[in-house]
Amino acid sequence: MNCMRVTRVLQSYLDGEVDEATARRVAVHLEDCRRCGLEATVYREVKKTLARREMPDARAVARLRDFGESLLTESDHSAKAGSDEVPKDPSTGA
Ligand SMILES: [Zn+2]
Repeated sequence: MNCMRVTRVLQSYLDGEVDEATARRVAVHLEDCRRCGLEATVYREVKKTLARREMPDARAVARLRDFGESLLTESDHSAKAGSDEVPKDPSTGA
C-alpha cells in the first residue's frame, strides 16, 4: 500500500471503518512510513480532542454564542426563553 492510498483511507481506518485486511495494511505502512505515521498521530489527536468535548477555543465559542444570542434577542424581544438575565450591552444603548 502506498502513501496515497493510506492517506485516503486513514480517517476511515482511525474510525474503525475499514475492513480487517485494509486495517492491517495501513498499520504496517504506518509502522515504517514516518510521514503517514505522523499524519495518523495528528488525526488521532484531533479525534481525541473532539471526543473529550473540550472546546478547542473557548473565546471563539463564546463569541459564537454571543452572536447567536444577539440574533435571538433582536428577532424575538418579547419571548425570552429561559433567563431574564440577558445583560444589556452598554456600548450600543447610549
Ligand atoms: Zn506513507
